[in-house]
Amino acid sequence: MLQDIKVIGATLMKAGNIELYKQLLDYQADAQKLIDENMKLKEENRVLKEKLMIQSELEFRNNQYFRIKDGIKLGPYCTRCWDAESKLINLHQSNDGYSDCPSCKVSVVNNQAPYNQSYDDSFGW
Ligand SMILES: [Zn+2]
Repeated sequence: MLQDIKVIGATLMKAGNIELYKQLLDYQADAQKLIDENMKLKEENRVLKEKLMIQSELEFRNNQYFRIKDGIKLGPYCTRCWDAESKLINLHQSNDGYSDCPSCKVSVVNNQAPYNQSYDDSFGW
């Protein structure tokens, strides 16, 4: 589309039609804005789809998130960082019975019993 506009612009310049050429430049700028906005919206759409996919794979358990992806348990992840910032941050286990988020510094007790033993057993947890 922008290439066509350049060809038309060159033709108008050769013909000496400055008013139409200026109008064409305005259309070219408008077209570029639409292209940029479309790219931005496509990227936002991709990020939202990815977030929805991750959200559907998350299990909340013992104040932590675990991600079940292709039958594999990943995590635990910080609930605060996902809920507030959509970031999956791995919790670090410490020797005092807590798991700590290296990003937001939240600590959760990591020695609680699983909420659903039969579900956990099906995944080998
Ligand atoms: Zn966090």
